[in-house]
Amino acid sequence: MFQQIVDFIKGWYGSEEFVPLSVPKFVGNEKKYLNECIDTTFVSSVGKFVDRFEEDMARYTGAKKAVVCVNGTNALHMALLLSGVERDDEVLTQALTFIATCNALSYIGAHPVFLDVDVATMGLSPKAVKEWLAKNAEVRDGVCYNKRTGRRVKACVPMHTFGHPVRIEELLAVCEEYHIALVEDAAESIGSLYKGKHTGTFGKVGALSFNGNKTLTTGGGGMLLFMDEELGMLAKHLTTQAKVPHRWEFRHDHIGYNYRMPNINAALGCAQLENLDKFIEDKRQTAAAYMEYFAKVEGVEFFVEPENCRSNYWLNAVLLPNREAQQEFLQYTNDHGVMTRPIWELMNRLPMFENCETDGLKNTQMFADRVVNIPSSVRL
Ligand SMILES: *Cc1c(COP(=O)(O)O)cnc(C)c1O
Repeated sequence: MFQQIVDFIKGWYGSEEFVPLSVPKFVGNEKKYLNECIDTTFVSSVGKFVDRFEEDMARYTGAKKAVVCVNGTNALHMALLLSGVERDDEVLTQALTFIATCNALSYIGAHPVFLDVDVATMGLSPKAVKEWLAKNAEVRDGVCYNKRTGRRVKACVPMHTFGHPVRIEELLAVCEEYHIALVEDAAESIGSLYKGKHTGTFGKVGALSFNGNKTLTTGGGGMLLFMDEELGMLAKHLTTQAKVPHRWEFRHDHIGYNYRMPNINAALGCAQLENLDKFIEDKRQTAAAYMEYFAKVEGVEFFVEPENCRSNYWLNAVLLPNREAQQEFLQYTNDHGVMTRPIWELMNRLPMFENCETDGLKNTQMFADRVVNIPSSVRL
């Protein structure tokens, strides 16, 4: 049965030899814009592509302000700082995520609390958040505290897993009720919509990633999305060493960060963005083909976008019946020229986070035992 799946995937991607998981596509103005950077010498922290990429991305996502970063991890770091997260605060998030989510909050000295994900979205479950808060939290003078630890619960970071939007409206409602800042880890969900609105534009701040394996790449890169323009301006200031604008003076009014994306990366981003809709259309075609194919395969379930959402299907996912089947599938496909991989090791199983609070993580563990990502590159 696994051989038939291998044949189908190789056939779909038109490759006899090897099908990678997710590789970038450069089919537009990438070389032209990169050459322009080199020819004009504007390869670094100054240049027109940075401003253009921010403006184009704000327009594309519907954000009031978009601010480039060097990568998605430091975009998340900045998002948490701007949300007022401080040392020894607690941050509610999912254990089913890439390490960057937890690294970012750890840089501040905050502590993750791992809550369960939703069966339909693979992202943070509003029900789990509500239940945990009802049991463990109290609000005093407009500040939410964990009754057991006495720590402040300052932020909640859902992640739109593999591009599938979480139930963001419900999460927003519960965060508002408890005075918790909502920060969206939208690193994987560029172009993904919840009820027609772009992921990353619901909470206080949204963070995107443009790493090489993401749907749009700038080599390495990230971005912050804001509906609050003023907060966006502050982000721009803090990510550029908090330098007070002046033609020749070096004056800084905060501890700043050198998180600004270089012009040469932004040039790549501008070119990639011109083709993003085509990329996503193509990825959705691949997802539709998988959906149709796996509907007829017993024991392998294709994970479909949640209701009311349009997913970018960044990484396609299938569910095997259990961990043994998952391991066999991984072994067979990787032995036979089709690159697949399991979902990330759960955060609460890593040495740095193994003592963090969890709510039992029932669905999270189910996904960890069953999910495998299958090839998802754009075919153009
Ligand atoms: C890719 C990714 C990031 C950011 O990663 P960078 O490599 O720093 O751009 C953050 N969170 C998640 C869930 C991701 O998949």
